Amino acid sequence: MNIGAHVSIKGGVTHAFDEIREIGGTCGQIFTHSPRGWRFPEIDKEEASRFRETYGKKEIWPVLIHESYLTNLATPREDIYKKSMETMEKEIAAARTLGIEYIKIHPGSHLGQGEEKGLMQIANSLNSLEPEIDDIIILLETTAGKGTDLGYTFEQLQYLRDTITYETGVCLDTCHVFAAGYDITTKEGLDRTLNQIDNTIGISTLKAVQLNDSKHPFNSRKDEHAHIGLGEIGKEGFRVFVNHPVIRDLPLILETPVDETRGHRENIEAVRALVTP
Ligand SMILES: [Zn+2]
Repeated sequence: MNIGAHVSIKGGVTHAFDEIREIGGTCGQIFTHSPRGWRFPEIDKEEASRFRETYGKKEIWPVLIHESYLTNLATPREDIYKKSMETMEKEIAAARTLGIEYIKIHPGSHLGQGEEKGLMQIANSLNSLEPEIDDIIILLETTAGKGTDLGYTFEQLQYLRDTITYETGVCLDTCHVFAAGYDITTKEGLDRTLNQIDNTIGISTLKAVQLNDSKHPFNSRKDEHAHIGLGEIGKEGFRVFVNHPVIRDLPLILETPVDETRGHRENIEAVRALVTP
């Protein structure tokens, strides 16, 4: 089982590897800069080369880049759109500097201009980045569908994949798909959901799983993560999920809270305890 968590790069990007090891993980995810601001501090060249060296050994793999929270490729606001595109270019440059192959994005929120227009804008935006993409893979994340967020149905992700002129992958978030109304908590439900994935985006496009329990019920379209087994998906739901042959082979990356109840280490242990050999 390849499991890890979203970790901090405070003190330098290579700190990510230390933290992943500390929590007993073998994969992970980072922000390349503060996700709540547009500022993009330069990555130290020596740090970057140390990062590439360690990453190249693949003892910890993959490490995804999580795009900034502010980026919205579907926004009707011109100033935000311009900043979002600049941020995407910087994320791609950071991925190249660090030797990271995956940048994970939430497709975007249309903010009232309509789903169709929003989806088209996302696809066009990503298409305009094609010259810079090269071998970097954009992972479209499944969303919970709160507010005007797009990417909460597999059909929307399929539209994006079909319209984007280069190959993209998909990152499945357990909290989000559950909140978006896809059952993953029973054997029958999970089989049905994976079938729906295979009939739209295709199972082989799944490159990683964001493993989060949900504070809100099934189909609530709300996005709040809970500790593994302590939310609405629950322990038995995760037992079904992580033991499925399709899921077992994927990198599982936690974005669960770190608080007095549990940290990442405890959540990783909770997941491992559910796995049947
Ligand atoms: Zn979420």
